[in-house]
Amino acid sequence: MENEIPKYRKKKNNSSKSEKKSDHKHEYKDCLVLGKVNWGNQHYIPTLREYCVLCGKLGRKWEPPSIKIGNAYQYLDADDAVKKYSYLQVFYIDYLDDCVNLDEVKE
Ligand SMILES: [Zn+2]
Repeated sequence: MENEIPKYRKKKNNSSKSEKKSDHKHEYKDCLVLGKVNWGNQHYIPTLREYCVLCGKLGRKWEPPSIKIGNAYQYLDADDAVKKYSYLQVFYIDYLDDCVNLDEVKE
C-alpha cells in the first residue's frame, strides 16, 4: 500500500483584498431633496431630509417644506423651497431613491 502524500498543501487564502468594512455610524446632516416625479409632466417635489455625509444615505427625516399663512400651512413648490432653504445642501434625486450623490455637495 502506498502512502500518498500530497506534494503541495493548498494554502488557505481567506484574505480578500476587496472586502472592506463599509459599516459606519451614519452622520446625518439636514438637506433639501428635490425628488423627480413623472406625473403628467415632470417636476420636482421638495422634501426636507437628512443625509449621511459619509455615504449619502438618506435618514428617516421626511418633512414637506411649508409656510404658515394665517392658520393654515401651505406647501412650498420646488423653487420656493430652494429659495427659503438656500442655506441647506440641495440634492436632486429620483423621488424613490433612498440615497443622494455626494458628488453634488458643494464645499
Ligand atoms: Zn453613512
